[in-house]
Amino acid sequence: MKISRIETFLVPPRWLFCRVETDEGVVGWGEPVVEGRAETVRAAVDELSDLLLGEDPGAIEYHWQRLTKAAFYRGGPVLSSAVAGLDQALWDIAGKRLGVPVHQLLGGPVRDRVRVYGWVGGDDPSELAEAVAARVEAGLTAVKMNGSGVMGRSATAREIDAVVDRLAGVREVLGPDRDVAVDFHGRFNAATARRVLPLLEPLRPMFVEEPLLPEYGHLLESVVRASPVPIATGERLYSRTDFLPALQAGIAVAQPDLSHAGGISEVRRIAALAETYDVLLAPHCPLGPIALAASLQVAFATPNFLIQEQSIGIHYNKDAELLDYVRDPAVFAFPDGHIRPARAPGLGVDIDEAAVRRADRVGHRWRPPVWSHADGSFAEW
Ligand SMILES: [Mg+2]
Repeated sequence: MKISRIETFLVPPRWLFCRVETDEGVVGWGEPVVEGRAETVRAAVDELSDLLLGEDPGAIEYHWQRLTKAAFYRGGPVLSSAVAGLDQALWDIAGKRLGVPVHQLLGGPVRDRVRVYGWVGGDDPSELAEAVAARVEAGLTAVKMNGSGVMGRSATAREIDAVVDRLAGVREVLGPDRDVAVDFHGRFNAATARRVLPLLEPLRPMFVEEPLLPEYGHLLESVVRASPVPIATGERLYSRTDFLPALQAGIAVAQPDLSHAGGISEVRRIAALAETYDVLLAPHCPLGPIALAASLQVAFATPNFLIQEQSIGIHYNKDAELLDYVRDPAVFAFPDGHIRPARAPGLGVDIDEAAVRRADRVGHRWRPPVWSHADGSFAEW
C-alpha cells in the first residue's frame, strides 16, 4: 500500500481537515489546524506531503520522525499541528487496513466509557446559569467556563470578586455532584494568580486552566505552590519536551491537543510522561469531529485519563457544527455525560466527504477576537 494523494479542506467554522488516499482505496482523515492560522497549517501540510507521497502509510513512527525532524527547523504550533493531522490520518488508515479501532492498536481499551465536558459561554451571570442548566439537561456531568472577561494583568478588587461570583453562580446550579473547570487563558499575571486561586478552593473547581501564559512557565511552580486548586495547562504546548517543565512545576492535569501536539503518536508519549508525575490527561479539543475522534481513541487506551473536552454547542461556533461533517453522529452521543467506544475501524468516525468538499468551497477566515484594556492597550483573550 502506498500513499497516492493528500488533500486539505478549509471548513467552517474554523477548521482544516486532511484526507490521505492510498493506491488501494483506503482513505485516512486528519485535522491539522491551529485556530486562526488554518491557511498557514494548510501550507505546512502541503510542504510535508513531499515526505509521504509514494510511501507505505503503515510506518507511522518512521514518518513521524521524518515529518518532525527532516526540515532541520523543528517544533512550534504550525509544524506540530500539520504533523498532528497527518499522524491522525495515518493511524486512521492503519486501523481501517487491519479492521480495528485505533485504540485496539494502542493496547486495547482500559475503560468502557469516556467522560466529556462541554463549554458554557456568556459573560452575564444569569446567562451563565441558563447555559449551565441547558448542559445539565443535555446529560453532561461537567462543564468548563471562562474565569473572566477582559481583565487587568494585575486584577482589581472588583475583577477578583467577579471571578469568585461567577464560579459561585455556576456551582449553585451544578450542585455538589457535577464538576466545573475554570479557564483563565493567562489573562492575569502570576502575582494575581497567587491571590485568586486560593479564593476559588471553597467552590471546589475540578481544575483551573492556564492561570499563566505558556511563556511564563518559569513562574508556574510558584503558582502551583500557592494554589490549593489543581492546575491544568497544555493546549499551547506541543511536545514531550514542552510538557516536561510544566510537569516538573507540579501541574495536576495535562491538556495536550490531539491536533496541535504531534497527533496520536506524541500525545500517547505525553500521557506516559505525565503518568510518571501522577498527572492526569484531559485533552484539549474545541475542534472538529476528526480531532475529537482521535482524542477518544487515546482516551479509551490511556490509564491516566481524566476527562475529554468536546465542542458540540460551543458558544463561538456560529456557521457550522462538529456534527455537520459526520454521517454517524451517534458515535459522539453522551446520554449520561459519557461517550461509548466506536466500533468502526480506524478513528471510528464516518466523515461525510461530500459535505466537507462543499464546505471547503465556502472556506473561512476565522480569527480569534482581539481584545483591549480600557486604556487601549492589548489584552489577552
Ligand atoms: Mg483553554
